[in-house]
Amino acid sequence: MQNVQRNCPLCGQCDQSSLYAESTLDRKQLTEFSFASRKDPEYMNHRLMLCARCDMLYVSEIAGVSDLSSEYDSAAYDSQVESVYAASTYMRLLLPMFDRLPDRVGALDIGTGDGAFLVELLERGKLTDVVGLEPSTAPIRSADARVQGLIRQAMFVEGLYPSETFSLVTCFQTIEHVDDPAGLCSESLRILKPGGALAIIGHNRRGFLNRILGRKSPIFDIEHLQLFSPESLRRLMQNAGFHSVSVKSFWNTYPVSYWARLFPFPRPIKKAVIGLLRVTGLGRIPLPFPVGNLVAVGHRES
Ligand SMILES: [Zn+2]
Repeated sequence: MQNVQRNCPLCGQCDQSSLYAESTLDRKQLTEFSFASRKDPEYMNHRLMLCARCDMLYVSEIAGVSDLSSEYDSAAYDSQVESVYAASTYMRLLLPMFDRLPDRVGALDIGTGDGAFLVELLERGKLTDVVGLEPSTAPIRSADARVQGLIRQAMFVEGLYPSETFSLVTCFQTIEHVDDPAGLCSESLRILKPGGALAIIGHNRRGFLNRILGRKSPIFDIEHLQLFSPESLRRLMQNAGFHSVSVKSFWNTYPVSYWARLFPFPRPIKKAVIGLLRVTGLGRIPLPFPVGNLVAVGHRES
């Protein structure tokens, strides 16, 4: 166990940073679901600083952490239905840009979870040589048989793949979780073929709903080591050397019961609402909602 100090993960400095929120972490409240990707919000966060230079909100101190990869290794997993919805939404967003890729050979999905997006890449995207990385055991175990063998249990680190291996690298709902998002981007650039693309999907802390919910937004979470805005996400990719970077917000589609879980109802009310949705079957209805997510795409120079 040790305390880890961090500077702004974009500019690497802290001179322009000011305190945004003190830590509300209560170790006693952590559960095996704390490091799962789609879970009930816990309303806990580490100490947060805001870098005025980069518009970057980041965790400046993590108290009493043993090792991130071991936390994720044993994280519980219960979100297979949602992962299929998410993968379908992401493919709809990205498919129009596939014609710009150098070819359809080689795609890496970082933090692939149960590999739902790998299924999309193979079936709707018509890509070959598709692989995924995922640090947690549980989602890999529940992966679709078509892609389970394509998922490697590992964090994305330097040197895993040779240069110019992939046409597409994707990183969905993961960039907030990694200790070095700038390093993730520069390593992605290295393993992309000329003209290849990196697509990142993450939370928009300046999104309408997140601004309304404030600190009650589920984006304030101990798993998130930084939170991006359109400005800081664009900078992240441009600083790493990506060209023609585009950043857009989009609407997510999930079943009603999923939205109900995220909504900041008081606990007994939430239980009643979710029970009612289950009994009536209304919980299964897909509902698009502007929850405040961003998709950023950047290309390696061809
Ligand atoms: Zn900064």
